[in-house]
Amino acid sequence: MERIHNFSAGPAVLPREVLEQASDELMNWHGCGMSVMEMSHRGKEFGTILEAAEADLRTLLGIPANYRVLFLQGGATLQFAQVPMNLLAGDSADYIVTGDWSKKAYKEAQRFGAVHQAASTEADGFTSFPAGSDLKLNPDAAYLHLCSNETIRGVELFDFSALPKGVPLVADMSSHILSRPIDVSRFGLIYAGAQKNIGPAGVCLVVVREDLLGKVAAGTPTLLDYAVQAEQHSMLNTPPTFAIYMAGLVFKWLIRQGGLAAMEQVNIEKARMLYAMIDRSGFYHNPVQPACRSRMNVPFTLRDPKLDESFIEQARQHGILQIKGHKSVGGMRASIYNAMPLDGVQALMDFMDAFEQQHG
Ligand SMILES: *Cc1c(COP(=O)(O)O)cnc(C)c1O
Repeated sequence: MERIHNFSAGPAVLPREVLEQASDELMNWHGCGMSVMEMSHRGKEFGTILEAAEADLRTLLGIPANYRVLFLQGGATLQFAQVPMNLLAGDSADYIVTGDWSKKAYKEAQRFGAVHQAASTEADGFTSFPAGSDLKLNPDAAYLHLCSNETIRGVELFDFSALPKGVPLVADMSSHILSRPIDVSRFGLIYAGAQKNIGPAGVCLVVVREDLLGKVAAGTPTLLDYAVQAEQHSMLNTPPTFAIYMAGLVFKWLIRQGGLAAMEQVNIEKARMLYAMIDRSGFYHNPVQPACRSRMNVPFTLRDPKLDESFIEQARQHGILQIKGHKSVGGMRASIYNAMPLDGVQALMDFMDAFEQQHG
């Protein structure tokens, strides 16, 4: 059976080569006579898988030596709580609210202490990222939290140099990590649920600067203490072994593609093509300010929402699936992560063109 063009926001498409390799290795990983799912997380086989995943991720992102890499569970949603539990230390924190995810993070953090909204773009429908000069910063904040790619509205921050220096930056990068090179040293902590641009659901990546560890709030479960997880190499308890293995295969695939600089070029081209066609047509529309348009998640509406259902149905007949927008905004959303090839985007554009010819 032919595979479809999968535009899901997450869990999302994985590279074909990675799925083929996982399939080849499923019954008998590297001659050990069992699958990765069946091996002890304390055994030497899984040890090599975990070590390689971390080493390859460090290579890809250029993670400095004073940062720890954690493979955790509970998704990005648990990080909304785990970050303040570990970093707030009785102080306050600032949150930039630029969409549904950063708003959720801000709300959750309120359970753990004094957190402030440094800026919100909600009044203009979450269509931009605030300028550095528009941030109301508390000089005593333990950290400044942001979501650098808002998956639902498709708002991405490209220029991290506009963010304040001095205060540790905490970024939810769930839906665009590994889509381009970044300067990890600008951040105190980066987290990302895997199921968008890393691998299957079940593992959440945390990259944290060492000096921020060790300030966990009293009463925090041991499992949620970053310092303990760092000391135990993410193996305080059984880690999500298969999800880590799959993420590791994706890291190796990214290295074979030429790394993140090469991925960025492809991602720029895919997004450029799709936004250009949306802007060209009077039939499709994207409301996000051009400088903040996400390269990963491209939401768009049809001129007449009554056509939405037939758009989705006809797309399906063309092998284009999971294109429906998030229920909170409606319309469509094409998520075009690393694993979405250029010809998938081309297939979507061809279909959109034909649909517009028919209904425009
Ligand atoms: C999907 C997503 C989340 C939630 O991830 P879970 O793994 O489901 O908890 C949080 N933040 C962003 C930016 C996301 O895209």
